[in-house]
Amino acid sequence: MNLRLFIGGMRGSRPAIGSGFDEFGGDTTSLLLVGSRDERLILDAGTGLRTIADELAPMEPGEVTILFSHYHLDHLVGLVMNPLFYRSEWSFRFVGPTFADGGVREAITKLLAQPYWPISWKQMTAKLEFAKFPVGGIAVGGLRIRECPVPHPGGSFAYRVDDAGCGASMVFATDIEWKQRTPANEAAFLALCREPSPADLLVIDAHFGDVDQKAFAGWGHSSREDCLAIAAKAGIGRVLLGHHAPEADDEKLQAAERQAKQLSPGASLARAGQWLTVGG
Ligand SMILES: [Zn+2]
Ligand SMILES: [Zn+2]
Repeated sequence: MNLRLFIGGMRGSRPAIGSGFDEFGGDTTSLLLVGSRDERLILDAGTGLRTIADELAPMEPGEVTILFSHYHLDHLVGLVMNPLFYRSEWSFRFVGPTFADGGVREAITKLLAQPYWPISWKQMTAKLEFAKFPVGGIAVGGLRIRECPVPHPGGSFAYRVDDAGCGASMVFATDIEWKQRTPANEAAFLALCREPSPADLLVIDAHFGDVDQKAFAGWGHSSREDCLAIAAKAGIGRVLLGHHAPEADDEKLQAAERQAKQLSPGASLARAGQWLTVGG
């Protein structure tokens, strides 16, 4: 078996709705990884979590880990509409970093309670657990996960997932503002991408083109050009660009993808609803 990736959504900042958003999708960031030994790992819980729940529902019920890069609403709001939280045969372990403004337990227990949501997390029938992402990483079955703090307002973690069962690896880096990096940030992030060998796939925040990024310095996101330069430096050939700007419709994203492929033939833009095989 392989490491497989499902894109629930990779829209940035807020959902995008309408006929111009069919191809790349309008749901905010949420990805599902299914490991070679059937491990289930969700990365962030934007509104894309609703289609991930549809993919999980027919699978054997059991434990799912939801790992958070950070707690901005576009990465969290899908938690309010996950039907599997109301099914006792499922259990969810929420894992994420702790920043100056709080960690995973504070963020989620605040959101899944009044005044933001009518049903408290305590009333949900699935088993829900919270854990701080520990220094040195975690394991989900044969998936080994390590972290790297990256520049973003309030903080954000990038993660690398290595599947011990099949040898495939992926780096997930959203939200990240590469132009705000220090030399130490750069060295740490490149090490995450390269060690022990260049990851098979880099999934990264390419909210802007280089021109727009200059106007939004400090907003927390990178440009496509930055992302492709990082991948080249890290020796990663396959890059999936995401955190699409909410105003960028299919036509704009098709043009962005054509431009990205000219710079790097292994680049493409994430499309919601896609299943991809990582590595081998
Ligand atoms: Zn975001
Ligand atoms: Zn953010």
